[in-house]
Amino acid sequence: MQYKITHTFLFICLIIGISSCSNHDILNETEKDWLQKQGSINVAVYPYYPPYQFINKKDSIDGILVDHFSLIENKINYTFQKKYYTSWTKLLEDVKTKKIDIVLEMQETVERQKFLNFYTKSFETPFVLVAKKEVDTSLKFKDFQNKQIASPTGYSIDDYLKKNYPNLNIKNYPDDIACLLSVQSGESDAYIGGKALANYLIKTEGLDGLKVITEINHNYIPSIAVHKENKVLNDIIAKATSNITNKEKQAILDNWLFSTVKPFYKKPKFWVISSIIFFTALASIILIHFYLKFIIKQKTRELQIAKDKAEESNRIKTNFIQNISHEIRTPMNGIMGFSELLKSDSLTPEERKEYTEIIIDSGKDLITSVDDILEISLLETKQSKLRFTETNLNELLLKLVSEYIHKAKEKNLTIHLENEIPEEKNIIITDKSKLYKILNNLIDNGIKFTNAGSITIFSYLVEDSIEISLKDTGIGIKQKDQDIIFKSFSQSEKEISKNFGGLGLGLAIAKQYTDLIGGKISFVSKENEGSAFLLKIPYTPMQNNAESSTNKEGNIIPEKHVVLIAEDGEINFLFLKTVLTKMIDFEFVIYRAKNGKEAVEICEDNDKIDLVLMDIKMPVMDGYDATKRIKKMRPDLPVVAQTAYSTEEDIERALAAGCDDFVAKPVDRKILRPILDKYISIFRN
Ligand code: ADP
Repeated sequence: MQYKITHTFLFICLIIGISSCSNHDILNETEKDWLQKQGSINVAVYPYYPPYQFINKKDSIDGILVDHFSLIENKINYTFQKKYYTSWTKLLEDVKTKKIDIVLEMQETVERQKFLNFYTKSFETPFVLVAKKEVDTSLKFKDFQNKQIASPTGYSIDDYLKKNYPNLNIKNYPDDIACLLSVQSGESDAYIGGKALANYLIKTEGLDGLKVITEINHNYIPSIAVHKENKVLNDIIAKATSNITNKEKQAILDNWLFSTVKPFYKKPKFWVISSIIFFTALASIILIHFYLKFIIKQKTRELQIAKDKAEESNRIKTNFIQNISHEIRTPMNGIMGFSELLKSDSLTPEERKEYTEIIIDSGKDLITSVDDILEISLLETKQSKLRFTETNLNELLLKLVSEYIHKAKEKNLTIHLENEIPEEKNIIITDKSKLYKILNNLIDNGIKFTNAGSITIFSYLVEDSIEISLKDTGIGIKQKDQDIIFKSFSQSEKEISKNFGGLGLGLAIAKQYTDLIGGKISFVSKENEGSAFLLKIPYTPMQNNAESSTNKEGNIIPEKHVVLIAEDGEINFLFLKTVLTKMIDFEFVIYRAKNGKEAVEICEDNDKIDLVLMDIKMPVMDGYDATKRIKKMRPDLPVVAQTAYSTEEDIERALAAGCDDFVAKPVDRKILRPILDKYISIFRN
């Protein structure tokens, strides 16, 4: 109830609101005057036809057409006189006799059109057939032809039924409630009335035993009826009704007919929200779709690049392996071939000397290749360690030149060395072996790729760096190869130096070593004119070296490492000793044991030993047993096995006995070098 009151109040506010907005002068002056001059204009109200017109619980007139008429009054700013009727028949009589000018609600019929005009046919509702609840709902209107139908006297529906269904058994009652009660009591079989009215009465009059069975093919169209003869009044009502907007009509209908809860899907709000959600979801899906498409495209591109790179790298490595095979076979052929020739008794001493030199050179080439492969793999696995010591640059350069002078002469090349660095500034702190290797590779290339002319080495000091330039008058580097020469395996990427041999690792090692020691390497080169490489390294004078120590005269005392060589063979021992003493940046104190037992005893007596080079096959006690015992005493002391037999089994046995590493005999300087670097730097840390 409270809800209804609030609702009605809101509705009235709405009507007033709407009408105040739209209440402009719709009548002309003549019409306004005419209205003013009329004493009163009567409107016939028959308040027994809910929800169109009826008396509400507060005893005031209420209903759809009442609200509608109020709106008309508001629009023309005039209040009509309401005349209430209790009998529809009497009302009809008064209309016919012109006692009344307007009827609030009336169904248009052909008969009534003769003297009345009808306005606002918008609150239409179908006529329905109402019967008892137990009646089968599948029955149609035609099934009631022989039944008694209740209809109020004088209603248009009564005329309609009688005219269109003359055989129908119609019984008239004074009004709709009387009709419905007759159906409820069983006196009549059905009632025919407007759907809105029927539903309203069933609900409000407590007629629970009744229900709407079916609609009949005829509508109730309640309209305002105005007497035809009153022309001005007709004009006014016509203007006012045509001025009522659809929105205003809908507001009235919503208030009366749809005050019950509408299903959610019939509310426009539902469709607006659903549409927003739908389009937002659609837009999101489209966006996600394009985003995913983009990501997939990007990832595919990345994968393709990675695949291409992997394929390229694979191709380069395959070429590299083919190169290795060539680089190993060439010197091996030299060694094998000339060793065979050496067997001949008919050789002159010169020939014998020449063949021996070829064998030695081939052996050196072989060792260089193996050395480079080891070095590059250490670099690529970031295992290469730095070892800064004092380095006499001048001595290092002289040593290099002396090593290459012979090779240069063979090709009729000259090597010039010009060191502009003052003598006292030649001693610097750097990784000597790495600097040596860098310059070695540059000079080696200079000689290799120069067929005539010279190689000039020029070193000088520029502020806090030392610059060493190496110029040759060789074949130069093709423009297209200039970007790749510092890459590992570069040889495999270009067709260039098939004639010159090499694995394409020299410059890659030189570049990475230069980076490690904090320097920079660059070059300029012109095909057929020559190349000039420039190496820049930091100038760090000796006194900055915290690790080095000096004697009383201020000379450096190099750090000494004690190495025990366990070796029964004299020549092998001498060879190893020589290799160790010639190591460029190490100073070794060498102990010797002639068998495993002696090796164990020396280790027992001397805790200064830094490394053991252990032969495996020895008298009294072999290398395996000796290693086991030494490791028991000093587990941290590195023991490197050296043996002529290097089968998998030997290696496994040596490692099982406790050896840390393994070198094959004859032990070469370049093979031993990374091993010393590894263990000496380990125990230094
Ligand atoms: P390798 O000498 O084994 O081929 P490097 O890495 O030392 O490998 O050199 C890479 C390539 O750079 C060489 O194959 C050569 O084509 C080019 N190169 C290097 N130094 C020179 C030089 N001084 N003159 C001409 N070409 C050179």
